[in-house]
Amino acid sequence: MAPDATLQLADELSRLDFITARELKALSASSFTTVADVLLRVPRRYEDRRFTKPVASLVNGETVSLMLHVYSAGWRFSYKRYFEVSAGAEGEPYGARVYLRWFNMPYVAKMLATGMNISVYGKVKEYAGKLTISNPDFEIIEDEDTGHRLVEAAMGGIPSEPTEENENTDCIHTARIVPIYRGISGVTARSFRSLVWRLLNRMAPTVTAPGYDVAPAYPFREALWDVHFPREHEAAKKARMRFALAECFRQQFTVAWKRRQTQGRPGQVTATSDGYLQELLQSLPFSLTHAQQRCVAEIRADMESSCQMNRLLQGDVGSGKTLVALCAMLLAVESGKTAAMIAPTQILAEQHYKNFRRLLQQMDVRLSLRTSDRADDSDMIAEPGYANHLPRIIVGTHALLYKKNRPHNLGLAVIDEQHKFGVAQREKFINSGENPDVLVMTATPIPRTLTLTLYGDLDVSVIDELPANRGEIVTALRSPGQMKRIIAFMKTELEAGRQIYIVSPLIEESETRAQASALSELEKWKEIFPHESIGLLHGRLSAEEKESVMTQFRSGETKILVATTVVEVGVDVPNATIMLINDADAFGLSQLHQLRGRIGRGCHKSYCILLSKAKEGEPGREKLQVLCRTLNGFEIAEEDFRLRGPGDVLGTAQSGLGSVQFTEWLSDMRLIHRANRDAAAILDADPALEQPRHAALWELVAHADGQGTVG
Ligand code: ADP
Ligand code: MG
Repeated sequence: MAPDATLQLADELSRLDFITARELKALSASSFTTVADVLLRVPRRYEDRRFTKPVASLVNGETVSLMLHVYSAGWRFSYKRYFEVSAGAEGEPYGARVYLRWFNMPYVAKMLATGMNISVYGKVKEYAGKLTISNPDFEIIEDEDTGHRLVEAAMGGIPSEPTEENENTDCIHTARIVPIYRGISGVTARSFRSLVWRLLNRMAPTVTAPGYDVAPAYPFREALWDVHFPREHEAAKKARMRFALAECFRQQFTVAWKRRQTQGRPGQVTATSDGYLQELLQSLPFSLTHAQQRCVAEIRADMESSCQMNRLLQGDVGSGKTLVALCAMLLAVESGKTAAMIAPTQILAEQHYKNFRRLLQQMDVRLSLRTSDRADDSDMIAEPGYANHLPRIIVGTHALLYKKNRPHNLGLAVIDEQHKFGVAQREKFINSGENPDVLVMTATPIPRTLTLTLYGDLDVSVIDELPANRGEIVTALRSPGQMKRIIAFMKTELEAGRQIYIVSPLIEESETRAQASALSELEKWKEIFPHESIGLLHGRLSAEEKESVMTQFRSGETKILVATTVVEVGVDVPNATIMLINDADAFGLSQLHQLRGRIGRGCHKSYCILLSKAKEGEPGREKLQVLCRTLNGFEIAEEDFRLRGPGDVLGTAQSGLGSVQFTEWLSDMRLIHRANRDAAAILDADPALEQPRHAALWELVAHADGQGTVG
């Protein structure tokens, strides 16, 4: 330990003499201002540069670190496709080869090429006389990161293990398990690593976990050393778990706290009679599925109770969530309350409104539409005695969230496609004066871990069954070369009276370009089908234009709708049976699943045609094959999550996952459950967080900006 080991986590980096002014500036530009900021930034991964071996000496079954030169690289196929690199160590005989194989990691193909030097870590297996490593960790050795030295280490002696006392920063980059950090602009990888090393060496022996300590049995100080400069992989793993647990706990604790605050919170007693609901059900040409009935019953029980409802309604695309929500709204209205539904887009609000108007036409229920563009109070005109507080169903966009528009006498708020709004907006409703019941709906199913993470403060109802009257959906992957046959097929469907969506991934870099490409797509289809009426829908149309385009398509006046992803969510035209998606590989899986959900909504057999130039084995193609394989939205969500990570699937900003360092824990159910249990145990024992050792937790929940810390 250095003699001046006095640093505390809260100390400012600017106090330290060994950081140059230039580095300090770069660090602070990336929000590193204190010792904690640096030390709590855990490595993205590690590289074991300790024991590199000659390829010629590799043995089946051992896990090794290798310095290799890539001789060739390409796609292979045996029982499944994989990307293979054949490599050897410089200075070794040409025949000493090892074959690195990556399965289900198509991005690797984009990174590796013949001639590169790479460092590799993984388990050697012998297949058919070849030494192979499946899915190894690897790094491309670039100039900065001591490429030369690495090769030397591979060939020759291994420098002695540095110790904590040894502040010679030269031995922290090689010949050990080396931490690899996410890049910080203006600070080289080496100098950031050196900075961490120095800070650790000068850290006061008294340093403990900031705030609440999630794992007191494993000293925080030790965990810091283990996470940055582990002596063994096990140590790094253990330390990462500790930090991931802290993050997970922090998140689960906040959610558990919220849940306890809202659970049992006084709310309104509604849904005591169901005349309207029965009337609606009688008028439907079908009956609710068992799953829908169960969900309605769960929601009703919440509404009848004197506590506020906070419930999430999950279900696959087309499972009939909207109808369940309407049932709940009727229950509220019958109890003399207003019910509001908030949709993420104008199109959807209009659609819900029209849909409800049709469903409720024989019934004595008031219905209004409120969006930023228009207010449609049909009964306001019809009835001179109109009063704002009369119970009604209001459908709107987020404009409804603003205070001046917030409905009076609100008994139930339904929020459609919650993740487009975000947690803060949901809370606006939950906390609005009247304590309305709140029902949240998701557009796409989300993986279970994310449900717990994002909606852990809500009770959950799942519609796990599709209505029986649905026509089959066939999904096919086609290349543009097969267009002739596709067009012939489209013709037969049009002749049978069906309708068609054609969707393109218009990247709206500029307004004019987006319009131009939508327009040229329209021109193209007009040429192909000169006798059909074709509509065009894109985001730049005004609300009225969008509405009239949708009305024409819904009524069957236009047969083909050329669109951007505006039709992605919720649009409901049961007569449409073909969804043709151009450049399908440009979309995310969940988005494609949503688009496919636009067809198969009636009794006709439907066809989702995924057009893609992606070749067999390319990343985009594998993704599309998932869609061909399954119609199950929950399965697709898991896959999307695995391929893109939670941030990209949900949008980090809205989902509140922006600051998450350990995205991998999001797929680790055990960690989430442990954090969940720990949080519950604390709140059981100390519900108001009055004990001194829970002060940091109190800070965490009492301030929206999370001043309390957890380590
Ligand atoms: P989601 O919002 O879950 O994607 P919707 O609520 O839009 O699904 O419902 C899709 C379509 O299925 C709508 O046309 C709706 O009227 C219809 N529908 C809903 N429930 C049933 C049911 N039980 N049986 C038959 N059709 C139903
Ligand atoms: Mg819906």
